[in-house]
Amino acid sequence: MKNFGKCIIFSAPSGSGKTTLVKDLLHKADLNLSFSVSATTRNKRTGEVDGKDYFFKSKKEFNKLIKNDLLLEYEEVYKDIFYGTLKEEVSKLLKIQNVIFDIDVVGGIKLKNFFKDDALSVFVKPPSIDILRQRLVSRDSDSLKSIQSRVLKAELEILREPEFDLTLTNDNLEVAKKESYDVVKKFLING
Ligand code: 5GP
Repeated sequence: MKNFGKCIIFSAPSGSGKTTLVKDLLHKADLNLSFSVSATTRNKRTGEVDGKDYFFKSKKEFNKLIKNDLLLEYEEVYKDIFYGTLKEEVSKLLKIQNVIFDIDVVGGIKLKNFFKDDALSVFVKPPSIDILRQRLVSRDSDSLKSIQSRVLKAELEILREPEFDLTLTNDNLEVAKKESYDVVKKFLING
């Protein structure tokens, strides 16, 4: 059966604001988007809901997903912390809707290679590494060690920007929201 929907991939270094942009797009009814809920082995943060933000898995459960070939892609995004896109979740959604992915940079490139012209891949760029660090600190949801590893990773991820269909710099959130809406709408209409 042919998919009804298209894929929108938002990738960025952690702290670039991509999750805020993705959540904003999910509120735009005319885009008919639904969120691909990933599986992860990281701990649940305050306020997060299992099955809505992520499917929270033990290491053993996650390894079983890998072994049974149930993931479209997966990454050890941080040391010993795994994230993966669930095949079944995505194929179920694509039959009726467009699907948006909030995913790390390597995973985003993999998904774009998989879906090709049926996907728009967007790289959300922070204005600078210093601003990214400040955002991670003020978010107050990660330890200092975790923030340091996210910043180091961001420096490498920024080098992969050319592999995306387009870049959106998140300097001013309201402007970035509007730009996100415009590029997604255009892609969904014109392909
Ligand atoms: P966080 O722990 O802050 O929710 O997410 C950490 C990073 O993992 C973010 O860049 C997020 O987009 C990414 N991520 C979330 N789900 C997936 C997934 O299924 N696959 C990959 N490769 N990365 C993911």
